[in-house]
Amino acid sequence: MTHKYRHIKFLGIIFLVALGLALAYFGFQKVHAPSPTSSTTPQKTNPAKPVFDKTRYSISDPNSLWVVVNKQRPLNPKTYAPTDLVVPNAPLRVPGNDSMQLRAETASAMETMFAAAKAAGDPLMVSSGYRSYNYQVSLYGSYVAAHGQASADTFSARPGYSEHQTGLAVDVEPLDKQCDVDQCFANTPAGEWITAHAYEYGFFIRYPADKVAVTGFEYEPWHLRYVGKELALEMHTTHTETLEEFFGLPAAPNY
Ligand SMILES: [Zn+2]
Repeated sequence: MTHKYRHIKFLGIIFLVALGLALAYFGFQKVHAPSPTSSTTPQKTNPAKPVFDKTRYSISDPNSLWVVVNKQRPLNPKTYAPTDLVVPNAPLRVPGNDSMQLRAETASAMETMFAAAKAAGDPLMVSSGYRSYNYQVSLYGSYVAAHGQASADTFSARPGYSEHQTGLAVDVEPLDKQCDVDQCFANTPAGEWITAHAYEYGFFIRYPADKVAVTGFEYEPWHLRYVGKELALEMHTTHTETLEEFFGLPAAPNY
């Protein structure tokens, strides 16, 4: 063996030793790397899933998409009026009436939802949207006159306590007016579509059948509240039906 060949053999040995060390190192890393399916890494501690921030928007500011209005939480001020009301581009029960208006973002989301409902064969229209403080004074007053205050309080909010005054709530009904503003709306094709799909557009049914003791209002499958897609999806995913429960607020069965 010449000097030249001994040199090549020496380099070969160095190379093989280095290769062996490298394979041993990476093999060790692989064995000790946490497995995605390992029982030591449960889903709830997975940093990839962000925690929903419930404090992101105010629940007291009447301009906030997340404002919570109920019999214990009047609007502040009680005479609040939104500044971005628009008339939705949608079928309206009372065209030209102020109560057909909604806040701009709510109107836009509702138009998208109505288009999807129509495409599914369940066309809808706006039954009632924004109601001013003064409108609610006359509406609630007429119900009290007709039914007495105790009865009126179960289905109509006192002025300053109405979600409709935020411009974020809308009563919907089928275009054919089947079961309009009636609990049987829930069992119509349009009502079933709303129940299944409203959250996809940022809405939810504000007064569910089994939450009268929480919301203080009878079942209203037609009364939708807009909170944005993010919160609506989170409530849907966590099976939370009311804003009171979601935000850990006291139930509001009475004033
Ligand atoms: Zn309503």
